[in-house]
Amino acid sequence: MDRMNIPVVNEMTIRAMEDMTFFTHALIFDDLLIVAQKETNCFVLKTSEGLIVIDAIWPRKEAFDAIVRAIKDVGWNPDYIKKLVLTHGHVDHTGCGRWLVEKYHVETYLSEVDDIYWKEHPVKGDRPETWKDYEISVYIEDGDTITLGDKVIHVYGTPGHTPGGLSYIFPVKEGGEVHMAALWGGTTPPWTGDGVQIYLKSLDYFLGEAKREKVDVALSNHTSVDNGLERIAYSKRRMAYMPNIYIIGQTGFQNYCQVFRTLSNKMLARLR
Ligand SMILES: [Zn+2]
Repeated sequence: MDRMNIPVVNEMTIRAMEDMTFFTHALIFDDLLIVAQKETNCFVLKTSEGLIVIDAIWPRKEAFDAIVRAIKDVGWNPDYIKKLVLTHGHVDHTGCGRWLVEKYHVETYLSEVDDIYWKEHPVKGDRPETWKDYEISVYIEDGDTITLGDKVIHVYGTPGHTPGGLSYIFPVKEGGEVHMAALWGGTTPPWTGDGVQIYLKSLDYFLGEAKREKVDVALSNHTSVDNGLERIAYSKRRMAYMPNIYIIGQTGFQNYCQVFRTLSNKMLARLR
C-alpha cells in the first residue's frame, strides 16, 4: 500500500489559516490539550501552578474564545493561564496573544531576534490588523528553560523558518507514565538556498537533542504536516484500550522529522 512521505501544503493551506469558522480540540495527554482551527493549532500544558499556552493561532478574537472554551471543556480553569510561549514571530503563531495578555496578564516568551523580525517583517505587510500587537515579557534563547510549577520546557534555538525560531521539548503524562514531547517550531523550510541550509542544520541539532532527551511524542503546530485534524478526531473518541496516537517512539520521532528533510530537499530542487 502506498503511503504519503510528504504532506500536502499549498495555497489552500495558507488561506485556511484565516478560517475562523472551524475549531476543534482534544486532551491528548493528562496534562496537554491541543486546540486547532483548520491549519494551525496551539497547545495548553497544565502544570501544578497554572497553564502554559504554546502558540496562539491567528490574531482573531474567535481563536482566543476557542482556546478559552477548550480549556473550560476539559475541566481546567482559564483564570490560571500564566504564560504564553511562542515558537516564532509569524502571525499564525503569535496569533491571539493580545487577548491572553489583556484578560489573563500572561507572561509572554519569544526570542529577541524573532520579536524584532515579527515587528519589522509582518507576514501580511498590507494588513495592519495582523501586525505585532503585544509585547514580549521574556526573551529566550537556545539552552534556556521555562519553568512553571512541576513543568520545565527546554528551549532550542532552531533558526531557518524564521531567523530566531525556537523549538521545545517538555514532559507530558498519561496514566502516571511520563513521555517526552517535542515541538519543531518552524514548519516549512524558507525560500532561499542559504536559508534551507540553516534550517537543515537546526533540524540536525534538534534531532540530536531529541535523541538525548528520549523524545517519543511528536507535536506539530500545523495540522497539515502530521494529519493533525485526523489525530485530534481520533483522540476525541479514542477508547481506553486504543493507543495514544501521539506516542510514536524514539525512532518514530526521528522518522517524523524526515518529513522536514524531504520538504527541504524539495525546496532546494525548486530553487535550483
Ligand atoms: Zn511560520
